[in-house]
Amino acid sequence: MAKSGALGYPRIGAGREWKKALEAYWAGKLEEPEFHARLREIRLDRLRKQRRKGIDFIAVNDFSYYDHVLDTAAMFGLVPSRFPYEGGVVPLSAYYGMARGTEDAAACEMTKWFNTNYHYIVPELDGASPALTENKPLLAYREAKESLGIEGRPVLLGPLTFLKLSKGYAPEELDRWLDRLVPLYVQVLRELEAEGVEWVQIDEPIVVAALDEADTERLKSIYATFAASAPKLNVMLQTYFESVERYADIVALPVQGIGLDFVHGRSGNLAAMRAHGFPADKTLGAGVIDGRGIWKTPLRDRLALLDTLADFAPHERLVVQTSCSLLHVPISVEGETRLPAELRDALAFADEKLDELARITKAFSGRSPQAEAGLSDYDRASSALALSGARRRTDVRRAVAAIRETEARRSRPFPERYAAQQARWRLPLLPTTTIGSFPQSADVRQARSRFRSGAWSRERYERFIREQIERWVKLQEDIGLDVLVHGEFERTDMVEFFGEKLEGFAFTQNGWVQSYGSRCVKPPIIYGDVAFRQAMTVEETTYAQSLTARPVKGMLTGPITILNWSFVRDDLERREVAYQLAYALRQEVEALERAGIGMIQVDEPAIREGLPLKAKDRSAYADWAVEAFRIVTCTVKDETQIHTHMCYCEFHHMIDAIEAMDADVISIETSRSHGELIQSFETNTYAKGIGLGVYDIHSPRVPAVREMTDLIDRALRALDPKLFWINPDCGLKTRGLEETMESLRHMIEAARIARAKY
Ligand code: GLN
Ligand code: ZN
Repeated sequence: MAKSGALGYPRIGAGREWKKALEAYWAGKLEEPEFHARLREIRLDRLRKQRRKGIDFIAVNDFSYYDHVLDTAAMFGLVPSRFPYEGGVVPLSAYYGMARGTEDAAACEMTKWFNTNYHYIVPELDGASPALTENKPLLAYREAKESLGIEGRPVLLGPLTFLKLSKGYAPEELDRWLDRLVPLYVQVLRELEAEGVEWVQIDEPIVVAALDEADTERLKSIYATFAASAPKLNVMLQTYFESVERYADIVALPVQGIGLDFVHGRSGNLAAMRAHGFPADKTLGAGVIDGRGIWKTPLRDRLALLDTLADFAPHERLVVQTSCSLLHVPISVEGETRLPAELRDALAFADEKLDELARITKAFSGRSPQAEAGLSDYDRASSALALSGARRRTDVRRAVAAIRETEARRSRPFPERYAAQQARWRLPLLPTTTIGSFPQSADVRQARSRFRSGAWSRERYERFIREQIERWVKLQEDIGLDVLVHGEFERTDMVEFFGEKLEGFAFTQNGWVQSYGSRCVKPPIIYGDVAFRQAMTVEETTYAQSLTARPVKGMLTGPITILNWSFVRDDLERREVAYQLAYALRQEVEALERAGIGMIQVDEPAIREGLPLKAKDRSAYADWAVEAFRIVTCTVKDETQIHTHMCYCEFHHMIDAIEAMDADVISIETSRSHGELIQSFETNTYAKGIGLGVYDIHSPRVPAVREMTDLIDRALRALDPKLFWINPDCGLKTRGLEETMESLRHMIEAARIARAKY
């Protein structure tokens, strides 16, 4: 009989209790013991649910107080020296200090978890001396067993992946670091073995991205050490998000199970399996239920897939699994009462995926005509969506095809445009601006929810928004910013705002997923063809412009970000959806320009998020992503200045694409990458307008003028002052009023000092 296994389950709780507990604790409204108790309740609840659903292998230690990579660093005592820490179990103060920064110390860098929208805290190894502070997987295992009688499968982040995701060491020090960490892992595994744990899941997703000879040798040695040290423990070496590189080497590693992703890496993994077979003595973890998508699984198709896999691994050595942790999907479709029925019937979130998992495992194991007919019925339930008129709009399809017949490009090259723009605006050297949003205080959020609930009329709400705009135009002038923004008070979320105004989108009531730390997002669902209805941002932007002589930047979210931050239909190529979005947004850009707005920012913070994990697939993605951006922006006049903004990324492989986007000005997050981004610009000559964020907006800390001038000086060693802009890292909507004003004043002061120098 095949068994079922879930690789991880969302942390946030059905009513986002987790987020609320973290934030209450941070705000000093929850004492530490009570905080622990609440998180424990959430943790156990998730386990109970998975047991109820009939899952055989339930992950434990997938839960976290913030992020599982940070947990791994904390487990090994890897606390950077700028945080007070004396050894032993890492206290919450240091743990959250690393995650969020403190008064005196900047937070650790945060970056994307592979190609998902989850962000992890980057471990810093320099100067750290690793030691096992507590055996977290063991504690999680015991808790599940003692409290609920559940025999969990502890999850650990594997050593190679952990080190590859860390920073603060030179590549040639990797082996030395492995030598230090592997014994600590060994200790963890030995204790698990002594406890009687049967299986552990060791995640090594790094093997799907790139794997060279040397890393393959490292894996062999790591897993041989583990096998020799804890011989009775079964290791499921888990991969996900793509097909594995060097399949033959991976499946030959000395472990008892190999977990493969047959959703996102289906063709690659299947081809490799056909070519090389699967070892007769190993268990296959067959990831056939998509852990990242929200659509119902076509169960008949997956049953056929399992049948194919059964040729390589017999039922008793096959675990039917989710393709990755369910961390990336919302908790349940139940309670989504407002979606169109045909859409709702096509959805499956974490809980429904667990049902699918149990169901398909049962059908696969206990083969019967009824079970198969049951799967067919299940599949039919989602077929109404395919027939819906929203799925195929001929007007959109025709217009997009027509646009794509000519190359999307501005009429003149950048130097000529920039000169025309300079002549129009006469901005000072090192112009200052912000990224778009200003603090969304409680009254702003309240106003929006009053409007939504009908308590406030549209008129009243719009008056409120206008007042906010007035207030902030004035504040921006007083602070001394050169290029102003309207502040985005009418937007809860930069994607949702546009999605609600475009056709082809739907919104859940409770479809939250964790983005980073306690921050959750509720991605829209793109289920039909995307179409522009009417201007979306013109009113607020022109109102702000009417209040000031300084330029006001219009503010749009770009097509790739909308795509990457939404759940996207799976019956159409992603790039086709991107072109539809681009065509819709182009109509907005043109509307803004017609209304007299001369600077328009098209945010693409998530452009890197869609970057394929495998190098060979990247240029195709970059090409269509760039094309989509250019479709949005290419029709404006020379003197209309196109800005773009990106955040939180390693741009090393993307500089060419950024260049090709051909924006007149780009603003990029820098401060949280601790200057690494500047390095990549040092080796490339980027010759368009650029603002490298001079302070981190993700921390409440007000940076000193000196910190900003240092960053500016450093950047200007690589970049031309005539093209340089001064701005924060990102939008300010999550910040408080006072700290924002003070930080911006410091930024203006830093610009003044820099102008005198350059
Ligand atoms: N314009 C957006 C804002 O300021 C950009 C946000 C982002 O980059 N994530 O909020
Ligand atoms: Zn940003």
